Amino acid sequence: MTGAPTFEGSTGTWEVVIGLEIHAQVTSQSKLFSGAATGFGAEPNTQVSLVDAAMPGMLPVINEYCVEQAVRTGLGLKAQINLRSVFDRKNYFYPDLPQGYQISQFSDPIVGEGTIYLDMPDGSQRAIGIERLHLEQDAGKSLHDQSPTQTYVDLNRSGVALMEIVSKPDLRSAEEAGLYVRKVRTILRYLGTCDGNMDQGSMRCDVNVSVRHPGDELGTRAEVKNINSVRFVHQAIEFETRRQIEEIEGGGTVALETRRFDPKDGVTHPMRSKEEAHDYRYFPDPDLLPLVFTQGFVNTIKDSLPELPDEKKARFESEYGISAANAGVLVAERAKGDFFEALVASASDKSGKPASEIGQDCANILISDLFGILNKQGLSIDQSPIDHRSLAGLQALKLDGTISGRIAKEVFVEMLESGKQAEDIVEEQGLRQVSDTGEIDSIIDKIIADSPKQLAGYKAGKENLFGYFVGQVMKATGGKANPQVVNELLKKKL
Ligand code: ADP
Ligand code: MG
Repeated sequence: MTGAPTFEGSTGTWEVVIGLEIHAQVTSQSKLFSGAATGFGAEPNTQVSLVDAAMPGMLPVINEYCVEQAVRTGLGLKAQINLRSVFDRKNYFYPDLPQGYQISQFSDPIVGEGTIYLDMPDGSQRAIGIERLHLEQDAGKSLHDQSPTQTYVDLNRSGVALMEIVSKPDLRSAEEAGLYVRKVRTILRYLGTCDGNMDQGSMRCDVNVSVRHPGDELGTRAEVKNINSVRFVHQAIEFETRRQIEEIEGGGTVALETRRFDPKDGVTHPMRSKEEAHDYRYFPDPDLLPLVFTQGFVNTIKDSLPELPDEKKARFESEYGISAANAGVLVAERAKGDFFEALVASASDKSGKPASEIGQDCANILISDLFGILNKQGLSIDQSPIDHRSLAGLQALKLDGTISGRIAKEVFVEMLESGKQAEDIVEEQGLRQVSDTGEIDSIIDKIIADSPKQLAGYKAGKENLFGYFVGQVMKATGGKANPQVVNELLKKKL
């Protein structure tokens, strides 16, 4: 295991083992087995059909669109698609579960094993196994804050289609788990099968954590339910790791149990001892036929998949000559990658330079300048105050030597503030770089004449005084002298 953190305890070294179950709401106008709407934020109980309310005699009808989305997601996770799968009833009582059971998939899920690749900060890659993906319905929601004495139930979510994506216990740190959640979310968003909005509940996860001495068998896991942010995933794992090591080293054992996470203090609390599968009395839902489709159906979906983040990243590296780390940042959101490619195409047009030559420079201005500002202002790339064409205008001025890199940074800030085009700012403020050798020549002559001490020092071998002369020329030209020209001329003259 490379790079995974370990923990020193009184009984030796420990490592943490993590497996995640991600519940992702299928992006669909209607529910998994009914035609009721699914929009977020509707008035309670306004999106409930008779099926969702489990009225007697109502029958579920599978929503083919949701099935397609699950297959699409399975393909995006490089997973096995099962041409035959079965819907089971998972029986339990809960006030917001009117049927008394959840329709889910158990022994025959729609998607089998797959793999997700994580790009670690040190540049290495980790492959994390996917155990399965199955389709199931969501439950309703109990509202405890509407009345001092009663609990109300909102069934809007009842019957909404969820994809449960179960990982193998392959994750070895809070950091990896966070990267995994982010990567799954990126893939789902590329595919368009789930909006990935964790704060609206359309993506949430159960975090399974155990500890062991490296090389030992897997320890007993605790399952922390319903975590809705990457930060909380981190906190829950860090807390559980410490708690379990202390528990075991204190002479106790870790209970196989379900816990809840309290975002206020980052602590997990026991909820109930963990149910076993047989407690749920799973059996095939007699109201639904097995789900069977052809390889042709799968192939049609496969042909419609967009380029996915891993492939896009590899292409960005080879096509634009940019670093792996930068490519990773650019593909994390589809719109960012699109913006980058539009910027390069437009800058290439304007400057006449090939994409492979200017890619890194375009990546730099996005990652080190634009994204930071968007972040600070809470804007998405689609809301960028500078569009790719305007930014390409700035890039072209820099690439063809009209302005220096330093001036380009200033023009960028000015563009943001004024909304003006780079070309206009450069003209209005006379920011053109001085590349005219004659002009620079005479400035250099004057500086050399004015700096006899430095000249003598340089001639005596103090080579770092070269920088002094460059600085003086830059000062004299207000930073507008072309640094390359300055360097060449100075070398000649000194
Ligand atoms: P359940 O619904 O009972 O939680 P699942 O099979 O749906 O069962 O999910 C179990 C999850 O727990 C998987 O993500 C799996 O990788 C993870 N897991 C299983 N054993 C361990 C373990 N010893 N430590 C950490 N995670 C584990
Ligand atoms: Mg679970």
